[in-house]
Amino acid sequence: MITAKARAIDGPDKSFRAAEIKRRDLDLHDILIEIKYAGICHSDIHTAHGEWGAVNYPLVPGHEIAGIVAEVGAEVTKYKVGDRVGVGCMVDSCGDCENCQKGEEQFCLNGQVPTYAGVDKYGEPTQGGYSTHIVVTEDFVLKIPDSIELDAAAPLLCAGITTYSPLNHWGAGSGKKVAVIGLGGLGHMAVQIAHAMGAEVTVLSQTLNKKEDGLDLGADSYYATSDPETFKKLGGYFDLIINTVSAKIDINAYFGLLTLDGTLVNVGAPSEPLSVRVQSLIGGRRSFAGSLIGGIRETQEMLDFCAEHSIAPKIEVISADQIDEAYKRVLASDVKYRFVIDISTM
Ligand code: NAP
Ligand code: ZN
Repeated sequence: MITAKARAIDGPDKSFRAAEIKRRDLDLHDILIEIKYAGICHSDIHTAHGEWGAVNYPLVPGHEIAGIVAEVGAEVTKYKVGDRVGVGCMVDSCGDCENCQKGEEQFCLNGQVPTYAGVDKYGEPTQGGYSTHIVVTEDFVLKIPDSIELDAAAPLLCAGITTYSPLNHWGAGSGKKVAVIGLGGLGHMAVQIAHAMGAEVTVLSQTLNKKEDGLDLGADSYYATSDPETFKKLGGYFDLIINTVSAKIDINAYFGLLTLDGTLVNVGAPSEPLSVRVQSLIGGRRSFAGSLIGGIRETQEMLDFCAEHSIAPKIEVISADQIDEAYKRVLASDVKYRFVIDISTM
């Protein structure tokens, strides 16, 4: 067993504390990663606060992991000691089912193993990246391109792939009008990626406070959703809308912004259900869809795409003692645009 330092939370209303966790000894195809940086995703907060259902505490969140290979199992072929690597939201899947065979391991029919708050094939609870080390089977480890700094690479492993995948799947590109609701961690990646894919990009944020940043990131226009004029002006305009909002919003108002056959994809995962007025969909033969991260192959494709297009998240690096404060700021939409924990401060 390997002992790792970590930051754990003991209940929905608790603060983070220093902890020690065990990582398994390396199996034949396992990789021991010395974690350098871990991003803070809003999903960490939903989970840590028990908003998505019961959680086994103590919990060590973190599924935006960047680090260096420290040791490899006897039969590892894909990586060697010293390689710059990442781990995202899942650390294993069955590998045999139809969806795994298609490279869509996130939809594994036998249940993929989430990086934290899951149970691995050895029956042990999984613990995430707010820690100094992690052991992951090589097929779920990603290669971080040399041109991407490790701290900036971390958020790509969730925020990057979660937005790249639906933009790719629904064909964002030249001639397509794409809107992004919410300019947070996911939103600010969606804007950069959709722009690089060649789409016309619009940000729909609660206010105009971050307009300058949005335009710098590649948006062509920027509107405040607190202004009712926005919904009049943009009616029927977008081919694709990506909703990244972490809270319940009036989704019907946004269906009205879709063109004929347009699609609104929800990646935001609020704990409360959204209520859908079906008439808003029937009207323009519109679709309402969801999307969950992306498969391993697509995640590597996203990392390489970001390297090729010089895309990186805007990050604020914090120490391990600042996790509680960072959570409060994310909840107040006061994040520009991703907090990343410097694991050396642990
Ligand atoms: P985040 O950084 O907090 O960004 C969310 C943004 O939504 C905020 O910055 C804010 O943008 C907007 N927002 C927040 N509260 C709002 C409200 N009450 N009304 C309207 N807008 C509001 O969060 P994130 O890390 O990007 O994650 C966003 C959501 O995606 C979370 O629910 C997370 O769990 C989910 N997620 C899903 C997947 C997946 O695979 N589907 C993966 C990762 C995360 P403005 O200030 O611009 O309005
Ligand atoms: Zn995430």
